[in-house]
Amino acid sequence: MPELRPDLRPDLRIVDHPLVQHKLSLMRAHDTPTGMFRQLMREIGLLLGYEATRDLPLVDTEIDTPLERARLPVLSGKKLCLVSILRAGNGLLDGILELVPSARVGHIGLYRDPRTLQAIEYYLKLPDDLAERDAILVDPMLATGNSAVAAISRLIELKARSVKFVCLVAAPEGVARVHGVFPEVTIVSAALDRCLDEHGYILPGLGDAGDRLFGTK
Ligand code: URA
Repeated sequence: MPELRPDLRPDLRIVDHPLVQHKLSLMRAHDTPTGMFRQLMREIGLLLGYEATRDLPLVDTEIDTPLERARLPVLSGKKLCLVSILRAGNGLLDGILELVPSARVGHIGLYRDPRTLQAIEYYLKLPDDLAERDAILVDPMLATGNSAVAAISRLIELKARSVKFVCLVAAPEGVARVHGVFPEVTIVSAALDRCLDEHGYILPGLGDAGDRLFGTK
């Protein structure tokens, strides 16, 4: 297990923008059809990506406008890697990729053992140069935090320069678990819900994000 960083104050950012809140409420409704759910996930992904990339560094560059030469800010070229936890992460990933289309993309496949709720890794594909990149890990539901901790552990073990975690809905239990192990990981979420039920689902939540995204139930 990677070393703890007790010196850092854990950062949880709830994006309370009205568009995000409105779209999330539509996603929560049980009768929202698959296509609309997918479209909303993509749109919120883009808006959460906006928040997750807020601290990207800028550098002043000389640019010729039609009227004069000016020193103007552009991204400093910091390298990003977006990492999706399969399969539901892909819904958020698509939205963030619209913002940063040149980012590299990794995938981590994890499933929840239904009895123990522990995360079991079944797939891993990340860029070779992860050690030169800042990772933004995406998974819509931060429930027990077991998948998030397993995926973050992998990224830190493979020497990602930093890790942020982006989700749609977080449970207090999941936030506490992630920040208990990785206080340095900023969590960006559209909502902090009440609690988990006895099966590890978030209340009020939105049900199984993967099934709703892909229409598999
Ligand atoms: N995973 C989901 O898809 N939904 C939950 O509520 C919890 C975990």
